[in-house]
Amino acid sequence: MHAVPGSAAPVEPTSAPRGAGEEAERTWRAELRAAVRDPDALIDRLGLPEAWREGARRSHRLFPVVAPEPLLARIVPGALDDPILRQLLPLAEEEERGPAGYSRDPVGESGAERAPGMLQKYPGRALLILSGVCAVSCRYCFRRHYPYDAAPAGPEAWEPALREIEGSPDLEEVILSGGDPLIHSDRHLGALAARLASIPHLRRLRVHTRLPIVIPARVTAALVEALGGTRLAPTVVVHANHPNELDGACCDALTRLVRGGIPVLNQAVLLRGVNDDAATLAALSRRLLDARALPYYLHQLDPVEGAAHFEVPEEEGRRLVAALRAELPGYGVPTFVREVVGEPSKVPIVGSGPAHGGEGAR
Ligand SMILES: *Cc1c(COP(=O)(O)O)cnc(C)c1O
Ligand code: SF4
Repeated sequence: MHAVPGSAAPVEPTSAPRGAGEEAERTWRAELRAAVRDPDALIDRLGLPEAWREGARRSHRLFPVVAPEPLLARIVPGALDDPILRQLLPLAEEEERGPAGYSRDPVGESGAERAPGMLQKYPGRALLILSGVCAVSCRYCFRRHYPYDAAPAGPEAWEPALREIEGSPDLEEVILSGGDPLIHSDRHLGALAARLASIPHLRRLRVHTRLPIVIPARVTAALVEALGGTRLAPTVVVHANHPNELDGACCDALTRLVRGGIPVLNQAVLLRGVNDDAATLAALSRRLLDARALPYYLHQLDPVEGAAHFEVPEEEGRRLVAALRAELPGYGVPTFVREVVGEPSKVPIVGSGPAHGGEGAR
């Protein structure tokens, strides 16, 4: 997954886009620029209660609002508990630091940096933080306190990380992440993919992004070509938490990636008041499958300061995933995981059902 702090302005390409892709790039960049980035504008745009205004202003100072119009359009007008609204509205609750165990760096990223903007926690795969900018500020984000101003901004700044990858023959896969890596132009991403493909020991290229969900127009023909057009096996991992996020335009965008030869996976975060019931999670899986995408992970919330009001107890999550397993094909059930600092992978949360350990017996 991918956050915003401090850096509200989208990264512009260093030169104007050219050729057939020009119009397509103008479209999504215009949508990105037009995103609501102000708590008052958000309250006014959605007609929310005045009583929420002060808290929204204060929480915006902790983690700035970003809310693009194509996502706002999927919020049901007047529904104060709308599952998309809850993901992007700053609430007074964010001023609470949370119970013991909540911190500013809950997943131990500050200790995993091998080069500027390059993290490695797990064998064989390294993660590149390509940008500190996102197309939406998700209020539960575990990177809400990440020092993005220190993260490399553009192609020249990626060089030290690329040299580190070149010198690490044990790496098979590079994950483009952020912020949101698809903030960069197709031209820059294509050049980066080609550069990675020239590193002989790499086999796979993965992208972690929420942009195809929140601004579906970001999935341009040139993007599909940039990510899928090298010898590396590509995968795009998107991030949607509720079926309402997957409207027609969004499903079409995911299907464009798949038709272009790029498998699409989804990761979701289990969130109180957003997707903490079995019917919602099942509908999310079904909508993903309809769009030719597969559920990948369901994440237990990382205990980041300011997000404690989103937490769902792990035991409840286990029951929800067991309920999904009882009604969906195996490939429609995400793996329920949490991140434990120092472990060699995300840690599956298994073992529902009292008698036989339930899904633990895989
Ligand atoms: C989550 C994560 C990955 C990817 O893990 P997978 O289980 O392969 O999806 C890689 N690097 C870092 C630093 C991560 O946090
Ligand atoms: S898209 Fe949302 S969850 Fe992902 S890094 Fe940005 S703010 Fe965090």
